[in-house]
Amino acid sequence: MPSNFQGIEEARSLINAAGKIVVLTGAGISKESGVPTFRDADGLWEGYDPMQLATPEAFHRHPELVWRFYNHRRNALSTVKPNPGHDALVRLEKLKPNFTLVTQNVDRLHQGAGSQNVIELHGNIWDMRCTQCEKTFEKFGQLYDTIPQCEDEGAMLRPSVVWFGEMLPPGAMEKAQEDTIQSDLLIIVGTSGVVYPAAGLGQIAHQSGSKIIEINPDDTPLSDLADIELRGPSGEILPLLIP
Ligand code: NAD
Repeated sequence: MPSNFQGIEEARSLINAAGKIVVLTGAGISKESGVPTFRDADGLWEGYDPMQLATPEAFHRHPELVWRFYNHRRNALSTVKPNPGHDALVRLEKLKPNFTLVTQNVDRLHQGAGSQNVIELHGNIWDMRCTQCEKTFEKFGQLYDTIPQCEDEGAMLRPSVVWFGEMLPPGAMEKAQEDTIQSDLLIIVGTSGVVYPAAGLGQIAHQSGSKIIEINPDDTPLSDLADIELRGPSGEILPLLIP
């Protein structure tokens, strides 16, 4: 086993011993499917920083630009497939039915792989929502080149994602927090640990006495909380943990 995967046996023991497991995933788990993270050095789109476009202010000022950015992301996502990291988490849920997957990802790759109990903290890129009445239109996004309007309100629709600076969907964070408090083990995969409130689940797990495993090629602000840090790509490490 490569030396940078030290800790695998210890991590397996924690998984075996745990009753309730919560997994928190970020953009890193989808990277091996070919979905770029926002913090990739080459992550510009048409010269724009995606983190500047994924904001309510950007949509307010330049709705057509932001719409095109999301069309681009949906197009890119329509051809990608779950990777062995997503698949391993499906196996983990079967092994440990008392399981919650909390994701910051908007790509729906966890559900595509077969994960069942998924909390989407940041919504998803396929559904649309009215900017006025909040009505949601499922799997609508890919159908339109230009911004569609709500049939009831005549207002613009927007991607049903949580942009930087916005509130999370009602109840999602509360459920994620409750499950984390009750968990024996939190596995944090592919998240930079700087986007709150999602990153706060690390502190909540720590304070409530849950064990923590972090899987990430790099150190993050959450690393200090982890009982075991597994340094490497999740598409390689997760299948070693859950063969
Ligand atoms: P991030 O872009 O801030 O950080 C990605 C993390 O993944 C980094 O810590 C990086 O070291 C790690 N990483 C890189 N390659 C990895 C690999 N192969 N295996 C495991 N980890 C790897 O992502 P974030 O923490 O999720 O926060 C960014 C926000 O952007 C989130 O709110 C999310 O909604 C959104 N986003 C989502 C997607 C998606 O749905 N796939 C993609 C980009 C951004």
